[in-house]
Amino acid sequence: MPTHLREGLSPEAASRICLHQCRAGCCRGPLYLRLTAPEVVTFKDRAAVLGVALTVTEAADGSGAVGFLDHPGDRCPMLDEATSACRIYEERPQRCRDFPDKPRPGCAISGGEDAG
Ligand code: SF4
Ligand code: SF4
Repeated sequence: MPTHLREGLSPEAASRICLHQCRAGCCRGPLYLRLTAPEVVTFKDRAAVLGVALTVTEAADGSGAVGFLDHPGDRCPMLDEATSACRIYEERPQRCRDFPDKPRPGCAISGGEDAG
């Protein structure tokens, strides 16, 4: 669950806002998701199972980055467009588990401005 929630907001309420109000804004747009080497392996495995095309820029140490603009819909390839849910939620990368790590403007759950 997010590590920085607006005061008084439960993790469950935050999840509902991410899914239904914001529609997973973190998982869309001109962003790069950085992955550790084990997370690259997981992403590749899950992409194969789900049948989604995946482009990962890999470094020599096996870590990598996924550019959302490199994928259909300009979103993370693991995002279900119909539901805005993460299709690998139980195996999502640490970066996704930690976000938001501080109040961010435009993020309704982090103490930043409401996403609207
Ligand atoms: S921007 Fe904030 S509200 Fe939107 S998906 Fe990310 S954490 Fe959730
Ligand atoms: S792995 Fe899941 S939570 Fe992380 S950016 Fe992709 S869809 Fe969002």
